[in-house]
Amino acid sequence: MLKLTGMPGSYGIAIGKAVLGEDLRPSAQAEVSLPFEEALRLARDDLIRLRNEVAAHAPHEAEIFSAQLLMLDDPMLQGGIRRRIAQGEPVEKAISGAIAELTRLFRELKDPLLRERQTDLEDIGRRLSGRLRKPPLSACPPEQGILVARELFPSDIAGMNPEQYAGFATDLGTPTSHAAILARSLGFPGVFGLKDITRYLRPGDILIIDGTAGAVYLDPDRETLRRYASRTEDTARLPILRGPVMTAHGVLILVKANIGSAGGSRQALEMGADGIGVVRTEFLFQDRERLPDEEEQLAAYRQIAEGMEGRPVIIRTLDAGSDKPLPCLPLEPEANPALGWRGIRLSLEMPDTFLPQVRAILRASAFGPVGVMFPMIATLEEFLKAREMAESALQELRRQGRDIPPVPIGTMIEIPSSALIADALAREADFLSIGTNDLIQYAFAADRANPKVASLTDPRHEAVLRLIGMVSEAGRAHGKPVSVCGEMAADPESVPFLLRLGITELSVSPVFIPALKRQISKLDLV
Ligand code: PEP
Ligand code: MG
Repeated sequence: MLKLTGMPGSYGIAIGKAVLGEDLRPSAQAEVSLPFEEALRLARDDLIRLRNEVAAHAPHEAEIFSAQLLMLDDPMLQGGIRRRIAQGEPVEKAISGAIAELTRLFRELKDPLLRERQTDLEDIGRRLSGRLRKPPLSACPPEQGILVARELFPSDIAGMNPEQYAGFATDLGTPTSHAAILARSLGFPGVFGLKDITRYLRPGDILIIDGTAGAVYLDPDRETLRRYASRTEDTARLPILRGPVMTAHGVLILVKANIGSAGGSRQALEMGADGIGVVRTEFLFQDRERLPDEEEQLAAYRQIAEGMEGRPVIIRTLDAGSDKPLPCLPLEPEANPALGWRGIRLSLEMPDTFLPQVRAILRASAFGPVGVMFPMIATLEEFLKAREMAESALQELRRQGRDIPPVPIGTMIEIPSSALIADALAREADFLSIGTNDLIQYAFAADRANPKVASLTDPRHEAVLRLIGMVSEAGRAHGKPVSVCGEMAADPESVPFLLRLGITELSVSPVFIPALKRQISKLDLV
């Protein structure tokens, strides 16, 4: 047995025979049999199909393929390929040459956030080249296997059929890549960044994937196999539990959903969510040139509020900047964007963007219990100023004759300073929500997107647990609900720690809800 350690990419366990990704691709020797225009048409059809398939489970993540469609139809890309073909280059070489040229441009921009765009571009290049040949990209393995590849692109993950693949493992990639985001949304266990797993493997080798621990066991011994097999049986085909779950020691826990699209409430409800813990409203602002106006935002928030059929919905105001760049809100480059002008800092200085959003959220409360929450709050003053602006907007709406019920106003706790003053914030805010993704990044000064420092960001480190404990305690002292809405809340190994700290509300991607509720119902922490 050989244990390889990478980075946890997508939670869960999978056991199966290795299928090497390269085996599934048409061989390089297969003859190019289609002209470029035909391959382009087929590639476009593929992307539309992938987008629609992914949208059924993960509408927000499906937008990765909308962006790829735009890239595929980019005149610069198509023009580059056609120019090379006209100059006599073989079609396949023309495609790889034009893609390489554009990738270089992205790389020269030196913006780490564009790295994902670069990967999407390479993904498109592979798809186009694959479509020049028959058969299509995804031939099927004979039985359910584990896909092992040097690198997996978003379309590889979206094209994985759960009947054929139980999980995946890769040499390259990080937990924050588009491929990882998709894998989590679609519920495929996987490990990234194993460096050279493809070198150790032969097709058909037995593998255990522990996506939660970031480990892969090659040729596992009987004891390890038995231990993991019992865990997979535990999570197979879980029933949907509706309503708050009670732990075995008698504490009631709410499990809510994090969503990033207007349609996300449907999936949340299907999976048994007790409400929406965070609506990441950036989805309304992405991939567009102009800011959405109040009415457009209201329509989206209304859809979510109505979709949750009376369950509470927390809508977070725009968290732009740093890892969430928005073309419709171009920001000046900063040396340290994660520590720069972002989130609420930006909203407080841009009332023309902030207030229409706040008004839309307040108006959406006519269609269901809605709360408003501010991201990246670092000081009490910031919270008080944001709340004052929201309260004036509420008075103004009421003066205009709109019937708006009281709307709870809360804050994210995702900067260590706000955890340290949680008692003051808990006195003022109606609820607190701990964003562990950023809280951990700032606590350890370790970029959440940088695999080189990923080993520092241990969610169960004493430093993180103390910060969470302080917030939980402050909420209890002031009678205000405290939830945890970062990835840590979906990590089965961290959940008992959170509950021990007194957390009674978790908010996670909808796919994790059934397993999380089941785990909670079995937890006995006394
Ligand atoms: C967090 O920081 O934990 C969080 C939930 O917000 P986001 O991941 O959107 O930054
Ligand atoms: Mg955050």
